[in-house]
Amino acid sequence: MTRIGVGYDLHPLVADRRLVLGGVHVPFDQGLAGHSDADASVHAVIDALLGAAALGNIGRLFPDTDPRYAGADSLALLRATAGRVSEAGYAVVNIDANIVAERPRLEPYLDTMRHNVAQGLGILESAVSIKAKTNEGLGPEGRGEAVSAHAVVLLEMRGARA
Ligand SMILES: [Zn+2]
Repeated sequence: MTRIGVGYDLHPLVADRRLVLGGVHVPFDQGLAGHSDADASVHAVIDALLGAAALGNIGRLFPDTDPRYAGADSLALLRATAGRVSEAGYAVVNIDANIVAERPRLEPYLDTMRHNVAQGLGILESAVSIKAKTNEGLGPEGRGEAVSAHAVVLLEMRGARA
């Protein structure tokens, strides 16, 4: 038995914040605003995982009104999510994600992001795809006002391949 989930996130780009995507600190003159480290790509993956397992969404599990999550490392939230998904009886088959950012260029960091997400979930890097694209200058991402991310996750009942 397999289950699919989709996730989406967007955070505004602002001055005086670190840019963290896929758990990587990407050198840039702006960062993403948010309660946690505002890692839009990891948040999209978390929402896809929760969606596939029908466990709610990131805002329900990790409310941004909770001071415990102020400045939170989103990879820690990802590990906590992986625990919930596993408790519900599911294993991750694969993940595919897109990060939409006009700048900076993210290609050099994608393999490290894949490594971080795979490690957070305890799965092989070959099961994690993270791609970067621009928005051709259009919309909030294209104007450099925001970075968004989309993710799709496939889960299977644990033991299904045994
Ligand atoms: Zn977010």
